[in-house]
Amino acid sequence: MKEVRHIYPVFDQLVSRESKEWLLQQHSRVVWFTGLSGSGKTTIAKEAEKVLYEMGHTTMLLDGDNVRSGINNNLGFSHEDRRENIRRIAEASKLFLDCGIITLCCFVSPTEELRQLAKSIIGPKDFIEVYVNAPIEECERRDVKGLYAKARKGEIADFTGISAPFEAPSHPALELKTQGRKEEDCVKELLNFLLPIVRLDIAI
Ligand code: ADP
Repeated sequence: MKEVRHIYPVFDQLVSRESKEWLLQQHSRVVWFTGLSGSGKTTIAKEAEKVLYEMGHTTMLLDGDNVRSGINNNLGFSHEDRRENIRRIAEASKLFLDCGIITLCCFVSPTEELRQLAKSIIGPKDFIEVYVNAPIEECERRDVKGLYAKARKGEIADFTGISAPFEAPSHPALELKTQGRKEEDCVKELLNFLLPIVRLDIAI
């Protein structure tokens, strides 16, 4: 890590996260969706965000393509760049977390190392790992963005599930299996799990 000089953080002088959570009437968390491309991370997160909004919650959804076309548009797919991609996303998520915002992160994040990095930046209590699980054959059949076909033809190097590994999380907070299930049922399962955590009135 680079030496940080002449920097004087003022976190302790700011309006607290608790005050902002009170204002927004919710507990903030980072929900970290991990899973193969096409497993259903974005689909589920987008639908869940709509329901949360209708219930009066304030959310932020961060998704791979959006982030890579903006804040991380200078990063590629080397090991170092993938790590930096996740590090910046986790740091950005922490800013939203500290604003009291429920933050939904949709990133393949294929290795334990990358997810641990995110968890260590966000903090274990606030990091909720959701494993969106569909078999590789199913993701390839869906091929939402045509990426699997390109990866098979060798047009994309190190493509997760084809030419780069995906390490399934060993202890996710929640595992959502999406093959052969309706999207709305997966969204319901997520919200049944999440609402007791984020709702101020029923949170434990
Ligand atoms: P990811 O964000 O993981 O790359 P997407 O959400 O972009 O995946 O794509 C998932 C695709 O799978 C969508 O076309 C969606 O309609 C389809 N799908 C089928 N069943 C489900 C389900 N139960 N949950 C989520 N997506 C599903």
